[in-house]
Amino acid sequence: MGRKIKWPNGHDFAFTIVDDTDGATVQNVKPVYDYLYEKGILTTKTCWAYPPKDTIYKGQCLQDEEYREFLLELKERGFELGFHNAASGGCFREETLAAFEDFRSAFGEYPSLHINHGNNIENIYWGAYRFSGPVRKIYGLLRKTVRSYGHEKDSDYFWGDLCKAHVRYIRNRTFNDINTLKEDHRLVYRETGKDTCSNYWFSSSDGMRLEPFLNILTKENVDKLVRQKGCCILYTHFAYEFVDEHGNLSEEFKQAIDYLATKNGWFVPAGALLGYVLENKEYKPSKAYELWMDIKWLIERVIKN
Ligand SMILES: [Zn+2]
Repeated sequence: MGRKIKWPNGHDFAFTIVDDTDGATVQNVKPVYDYLYEKGILTTKTCWAYPPKDTIYKGQCLQDEEYREFLLELKERGFELGFHNAASGGCFREETLAAFEDFRSAFGEYPSLHINHGNNIENIYWGAYRFSGPVRKIYGLLRKTVRSYGHEKDSDYFWGDLCKAHVRYIRNRTFNDINTLKEDHRLVYRETGKDTCSNYWFSSSDGMRLEPFLNILTKENVDKLVRQKGCCILYTHFAYEFVDEHGNLSEEFKQAIDYLATKNGWFVPAGALLGYVLENKEYKPSKAYELWMDIKWLIERVIKN
């Protein structure tokens, strides 16, 4: 049962984290990254180019010199930097284009990993479009979703051409098991009907803030991940409760990372991990698998949450 991947250099399993930049400041995420670095766990952090345009979200952006320097240091240490839209609150094409240039001038390259943010109108294939075929219609009926225009060529919010040219990976589905590979054997895949404006999509495990993150990264779950020789792509927001207002990093987080670091895991950023999985070509699921994945995910999203 399931898909077995032989991880490089004899590692038993693969693990990474994708950190959504909502709310992030140097003050509230740097301690997390210093700790991960100290333990040899390299991950992926997303960022915004501009300050939030709405009142819902806070967080620093590339225009803050202190924050930009911090991100540059992360990159030099081996972490991966990804895109999280130009800013929170919806951005026109010109803004996204400018954000890509700002990203490149700050870090020397365009982002190759992107995470759609919240209800931004310029998201790529978002809202009900996260699902394909018949399940998209069902989801649209069950949940009120904001339509996304990033992939619609005639829209002022279109940036699908840029996304197709530079972004290799976009996250879509999130599941509750630590072993993302067990939940979705494909893990990283092209999606039917989304080829014009995107390349590969990937699934993740859901550790949205400190508590669910710790619930996924228990000793028992880590042992299970090792036993199953699996892969965990843990999605989270490090700005949410990992560091307190005095700058102290959560002791429980440290303990969870300490335990993880004692295991023989391959701890690389998401882009490197997904690239490796793509090279492992023996697994070719059918169209029916895509439908099954959509149905399973619909149930998790609508009924369990
Ligand atoms: Zn976000």
